[in-house]
Amino acid sequence: MDRKIIVAGGGAAGMCAAIYAARNGASVTIIEKNSQLGKKLSMTGNGRCNISNLNMNEKMYNPAAEKRMKQWLSVYGVLDVISFFKSLGIVIKSEDGYLYPISGQAQTVVSAFENEIKRLGISVIYGEQLKAVDVIQESENKRYRVLTNNNTYEADRVIIATGSLSGPKTTMSTGDGYYICKKLGLTIKDTYPALVGFKAAAGEIMPDGGVRSLAEISFFLGNEVVAKEYGELQITKDGISGIPVMQASSKVVRLLNEKKPVTVSINFFPDYDEDDYISLEKEMLRLRDDRSLSDFLTGFHNGYITDMIIRKMKMGRSMKMKNISESMVLSILDSYRYYKIKLDSDYGYLQSQVTSGGVSLGDVRDDLTTNNHDGIFVVGELLDVDGRCGGYNLQWAFTSGSIAGTVASL
Ligand SMILES: Cc1cc2nc3c(=O)[nH]c(=O)nc-3n(C[C@H](O)[C@H](O)[C@H](O)COP(=O)(O)OP(=O)(O)OC[C@H]3O[C@@H](n4cnc5c(N)ncnc54)[C@H](O)[C@@H]3O)c2cc1C
Repeated sequence: MDRKIIVAGGGAAGMCAAIYAARNGASVTIIEKNSQLGKKLSMTGNGRCNISNLNMNEKMYNPAAEKRMKQWLSVYGVLDVISFFKSLGIVIKSEDGYLYPISGQAQTVVSAFENEIKRLGISVIYGEQLKAVDVIQESENKRYRVLTNNNTYEADRVIIATGSLSGPKTTMSTGDGYYICKKLGLTIKDTYPALVGFKAAAGEIMPDGGVRSLAEISFFLGNEVVAKEYGELQITKDGISGIPVMQASSKVVRLLNEKKPVTVSINFFPDYDEDDYISLEKEMLRLRDDRSLSDFLTGFHNGYITDMIIRKMKMGRSMKMKNISESMVLSILDSYRYYKIKLDSDYGYLQSQVTSGGVSLGDVRDDLTTNNHDGIFVVGELLDVDGRCGGYNLQWAFTSGSIAGTVASL
C-alpha cells in the first residue's frame, strides 16, 4: 500500500519534500494556504533565486544550529542540490560560488518544481490553512489527523513546512507553524527578524536620497565591535540595509531588542588602507584654495554622502577652503571613514528575509521527525536554523525537505 503523506506548506522545503517522497512511490498531498505554490521562492535573490553556495559549511548558520548542520549537510549538501536541480531540468550557474538558475528568473525555478509536482501526480490543495495535527492511533502504525480551516484529512506521515514570519504579506508568512508545533509539545525558541536592515535613531543625520556604496561597517556596543562586514551598503533617509547589514543583523537585532545602544560606524573608503587614505588626504589638502567646500568635495564621493557629512559637521557649503583649518579639513575627510549612526530598531519581519529562532533543534531527530512523534516531520525555516545571505537558507530548505521527504516515504 502506498504510504499517504501530507505536506503542509508548499514553499521551498515543502515542495522539495513532496517531490522526494513521491519519487519514492508515496502518495503525496500538499496543503498550501496561498493560492499558488512557492510564492516566497519566486521573490528570492531579487527575483533571481540564489539557490545555494559552493562555499558551504556549517559556520554559515546560527551557532545553535552549527553542529546539526554539519551532519545534515553531509547527508545532503550543495552537490545534492545541484543534481536535484539538474533532475528538474534547471541549468545552474555560479557567480563567485553563489549559485543561480542560468535563466536569472526565480519564477522558472517555481515553474520547474510545479511541473515535477504535476508529473508525479502530487495533489495540491490551495487556499487551506493547516490548523493542527493529531495522533489518531496510539499503536505501532500511528496515523495522523490533519485539521485545516475547512477539512480534516488522514495521513501516515505529516511534514510541517509552513515557514516563518519573514517576508512581504503576499508570502503568507504568519508563523502558523509555531503554534501548531507548540500544540504538539515542541519547544519554540524566541523568534526575531534576521537578514534585515535597521532604522536610524531619531535626530541622526542621514542622506537626502538613497545611496548604494561599497563600505565596511562595524557595529559597536559601547567600545566593543560586535560585528564587522564588507559589501554594498544601502543607506536612506530612514536607515541602513543591504547585504553587509543583513549579514550582521541576527546579532544586532537581539541587542536592540534588549534595549542595548548599538552604533554603526561606516567606512565609505573600505578598499583604502591607512597609508592610502593618508596620501589621499594629503593630495586633497593641496587643493585648498578659494574654492568652496562643496566644490572641493564634488568628486570626492557620492553627493548625498558628502552632503550628509557637511551637515553632520555643521559646515557651510559655500565656505572657502582657504578659510577652513587643515585640522578641520582632515576631520571632514575622516568622517568618510568613521561615519557614525545610532540605531533605533530593525525593520521588522515584513522586511526581513528570514526568522531566527523557531522549533528547537533539541526536539527533532537527525531524520527531522519530532522526538515525540515518529510520523511528524518539521522542515525548513520553521526550525531554529537561519543562515547568512548567499543561498544558505534555500540550501537548508532543500536539505531538510529532501531528508524528510525521503525518510517519510520509506
Ligand atoms: C525577499 C526574500 C528574498 C530571499 N532570497 C533568498 C535567496 O536568494 N537565497 C536564500 O537562500 N534564501 C533567500 N530567502 C530566504 C528563503 O526564501 C527562505 O528561507 C525559504 O523560502 C524558506 O523555505 P520554507 O519552505 O521553510 O518556507 P516558505 O518558502 O516561506 O514556505 C512556506 C509555505 O507554507 C505556506 N503556509 C504557511 N502557513 C501555512 C498553513 N497554516 N497551512 C498551509 N500552508 C501554510 C506558505 O504560504 C508558504 O507557501 C529570501 C527570503 C525573502 C523574504
